[in-house]
Amino acid sequence: MLLIDGHLDLSMNAVHWNRDLTRPLDEVRRREAHLKDKPDRGRGVITFPELRRGNIGLCIATQIGHSVSESSPVQGWHSPEIAWAQTQAQLAWYRVMEERGELLQIVDRAGLLAHVAAWQTHLSTPDPSGDAPPIGYLLSLEGADSMLTPAYVEKAYAYGLRAIGPAHYGPGRYAPGTGATGGLEPRGRELLKQMRELGICLDLTHLTDEAFWEALDLFDGPVWASHQNCRALVPHQRQHSDEQIKAIIARDGILGMAFDAWMMVPGWVRFETTPQASGVCIETIVNHIDHICQLAGSARQVGIGSDLDGGYGQEQTAADLETIADLQKLPQILARRGYSTEDIQGIMHGNWLRVLSAAL
Ligand SMILES: [Zn+2]
Repeated sequence: MLLIDGHLDLSMNAVHWNRDLTRPLDEVRRREAHLKDKPDRGRGVITFPELRRGNIGLCIATQIGHSVSESSPVQGWHSPEIAWAQTQAQLAWYRVMEERGELLQIVDRAGLLAHVAAWQTHLSTPDPSGDAPPIGYLLSLEGADSMLTPAYVEKAYAYGLRAIGPAHYGPGRYAPGTGATGGLEPRGRELLKQMRELGICLDLTHLTDEAFWEALDLFDGPVWASHQNCRALVPHQRQHSDEQIKAIIARDGILGMAFDAWMMVPGWVRFETTPQASGVCIETIVNHIDHICQLAGSARQVGIGSDLDGGYGQEQTAADLETIADLQKLPQILARRGYSTEDIQGIMHGNWLRVLSAAL
């Protein structure tokens, strides 16, 4: 079954983790196994072959460039100009992946529908091991710091940017994010206006509660929370409260379920708890899916936003997930948990497709 993943940091992995995603996963792991600079070295779960094996024909893929002041509690680039340059290196990588036929950028509704149709045809052929279409990606910016001014959004729209999450971790130039406090910066309000004029979607993930509500108030365009689980099940500011989830539902938005273990099960201690000890498994995500479906009264507002290359790997995700292709276990798990075929198709791809199609 086709799977649309609402959040992957592909270019960050290529440009900053130095991972050649065109290669087999065991090779990528082997080449970096000796490195100690990142906690997930040798434990990544994503390459293009694995995305194809998992029928992930479309994703929302990010550019990331966090810029921080000297006093910032979090790490980042030391100027917005450097952050911008990082995002442009990431864009250059996406472009060469397009030239190789690995990726295809989706920028409008016609392109989206044609691409999904090509994947559905591919998956319905008797032997889908043949040449698969490229993996489609909708470009999104995680944290807006790299936009030197809101006017830069126009440049970014021209190269295909179709969504922005104004915040990431800590204080931000446009909006405070995970671990920070407060509302939107004046520049953030201007950014939302600019996004609305251009037709860029708003990703609410990572915003502080205050900034979340302000942004929803100011922005009447398409919204989603690309990689986002439930605070009612795992209490943390990074997670969304029931009120926030209901507000996204009311806008016919969608929440993408994230497979970062600490967001799936309560009590996870980073770099201490192991997936095996905590018992976190792919099925755990269904608790979050159930919760959102109960709030929505349907299974139409939830999808996948795995974030499975977001700075962690096997050490911090479901114990029964060896690679991202294992997300194909979900349809069976959902069926066992009582979901209809129609609901399962919605969660795997139909809901994202509906939201993206309307948004574009
Ligand atoms: Zn994130």
